[in-house]
Amino acid sequence: MRGLDARDVIALYETGAHCGLLKRGMVMLNWALPEMDESQRWQLPVGMRDRSIMQLRALTFGSNLVVRCSCPQCDLELEGQFDLSEAIKSAPDEVPSEFEVSIDGHTASLRCPSTQDLLALAVLPIDQAATELLARCIVAVDDEPHEGDYKPDRSAMARKLSEIDPLMNLGLTFHCDACESEWEEPLEIIDFFWQELEAVAQRLLAEVHALASAYGWSESQILSLSPIRRELYLNMVTA
Ligand SMILES: [Zn+2]
Repeated sequence: MRGLDARDVIALYETGAHCGLLKRGMVMLNWALPEMDESQRWQLPVGMRDRSIMQLRALTFGSNLVVRCSCPQCDLELEGQFDLSEAIKSAPDEVPSEFEVSIDGHTASLRCPSTQDLLALAVLPIDQAATELLARCIVAVDDEPHEGDYKPDRSAMARKLSEIDPLMNLGLTFHCDACESEWEEPLEIIDFFWQELEAVAQRLLAEVHALASAYGWSESQILSLSPIRRELYLNMVTA
């Protein structure tokens, strides 16, 4: 995997601009894992998908994330640092396609949820989608194919899935010094990375506009300049 350069950022932004969050994740994964075919990417467990997107982000903008949020109790604005390389290291390189666990006295064969599952359930109300998602992940119960009548404890099953695919529900613990609240803020890497890519793509296009207007260079010529050269020329144009 390699990080995105200026042209890649604009191309990725162009492809994902009119997509929803899940498809944007797939656009990112297309750059992160070009050797994987499209249907495999949709079937990749969600935490594994996010691991690859984190790797792409780390190679493009570095592994440090600054996450901003407001305290749910007193509304104080807070900022937290998060190191992607630690999260990437903590996750396995691969997740088994199926695995057995014991829940409520039964042996269940489970698989981890994928982006395809999330897309299929995206139209449902959130609580129903969560229940349906877990049901889709039960492949068999006590060696019989699962037909929907086995409904294990939701939190126990979610815990088992998170053990296998640990980046599936990544959260950052925040502590508010003003009111002593402590809570976990979910880290939505697709959304986070997308906002950064959008800001950088728009900045790059503004730079192309300024330099093309001043010197008559093409977009391709301007984007092939190193960031330092582009900045120096921009300083001269705007001086
Ligand atoms: Zn607070």
